[in-house]
Amino acid sequence: MNAVLSNHDLKKLDDAHHLHPFTDFKELSAQGGSRLITRGEGCWIEDDSGNRILDAMAGLWCVNVGYGRKELAEAGYRQMLDLSFYNTFFKTTTGPAALLSAKLAEITPAGFNKVFFANSGSEANDTIVRMVRHYWNLKGKPSKKTFISRTHGYHGTTMASTSLGGMSVMHGQGDLPLPGFVHVMPPYPFDLANGMEPEAFGRLAARMVEEKILELGAENVAAFIGEPIQGAGGVIIPPDSYWPEINRICREHDILLIADEVICGFGRLGHWFGSQRFGIEADFMTLAKGITSGYVPLSAVMVGDRVAETLIEEGGEFYHGFTYSGHPVACAVALANIAVIESENLVERTRTDIGPYLRAKLEEALDGHPIVGEIRSEGLIGAIEIVKDRKTRERFPGGGKVGLMARDHCFRNNVILRGIRDSLVFSPPLTLSHGEADEIARLAKLSLDQTA
Ligand code: PLP
Repeated sequence: MNAVLSNHDLKKLDDAHHLHPFTDFKELSAQGGSRLITRGEGCWIEDDSGNRILDAMAGLWCVNVGYGRKELAEAGYRQMLDLSFYNTFFKTTTGPAALLSAKLAEITPAGFNKVFFANSGSEANDTIVRMVRHYWNLKGKPSKKTFISRTHGYHGTTMASTSLGGMSVMHGQGDLPLPGFVHVMPPYPFDLANGMEPEAFGRLAARMVEEKILELGAENVAAFIGEPIQGAGGVIIPPDSYWPEINRICREHDILLIADEVICGFGRLGHWFGSQRFGIEADFMTLAKGITSGYVPLSAVMVGDRVAETLIEEGGEFYHGFTYSGHPVACAVALANIAVIESENLVERTRTDIGPYLRAKLEEALDGHPIVGEIRSEGLIGAIEIVKDRKTRERFPGGGKVGLMARDHCFRNNVILRGIRDSLVFSPPLTLSHGEADEIARLAKLSLDQTA
């Protein structure tokens, strides 16, 4: 189809028939439809006009090993020829599913030895909601049903995962959250600390979780879920005091702890998993995105030993699963992806080399910039806070418009950073070169100059 139709025709077809996610359909059409992306290589994508665009978002925070890797493409191709599909229901498995489950048990923190596969982060979180409630029923504590999560948290778009998320605009569509999902404030020092010292603020934010547990009664609370660093909510990096306090609270009140590692996993923070960076002692981990670097859809629920034992020994048949749970092609690609992360030392490189280098270059380029209130990052994820006044941290009027304006300038300057409320966020491939980091810093400055 692509061979006979022009890019212009493709865009017309798209505009006529394609309902895009997270998009105002009418506005997109009025603006002439979508920009057509045609190729990707390394950290770069190309559009239909031949523009090369530096992708400082790794797609949707997922293309950890960069675009166009032959190793991953060949693994998928070979697997399709050998066995294109077989399911993992009803007492069958495949080689790639078996190998990947063992590999995930090996690279995740101690105490995670069991894996349940799904296709997306949303499905994995939905799966966890069912597993958690099933677990407490098995434990004879059926009143433990409520999930606590954070404002600005993002956990996906199914009914349960949107309910877990703390995005009010999303709750406004579909009459959400469902009953049994409540939210507390995020550990977001820049917006909420009000001059408080960060570590004290981190403890305070964690204690908000404890207050909510006490308000609801621990006997009614099933689990707390959080991203080690809140990604789509604006790259909210908690002070180091936050997660140890959450560990303590969950332990003391007998609440299960879920680390949603969909963005933070697979090297993004310079550790294999965000839980290792922050010392999170989770009962579940949600994995997706970087598990295949986005080459094919795959997600996984890591179930901690304590919960797994109960589910296995006492749970009977778990009436849950997706046709493509443990899809052999996706698992083969995930194995090739993990092999690349290992052989190119991308986790350590992110922590000790390219992560700090990008941060230093951004700080150098944006030093004293009139509308930059803060630059924060961890590994290769970060945010630039945009303010009207850098001293008072007064925001621009318009509730997030300035973030979108800055993002649009970036887009026109052929670098992709994302606008989230009043910030620009970045999360480039872990294969980013020093020269590409220089370019991100240069283009971010140019775009912020144009925004000011
Ligand atoms: N959890 C987190 C932390 C995410 O960032 C996302 C997606 O951005 C999801 C879950 C949902 O994943 P998916 O879009 O694959 O359903």
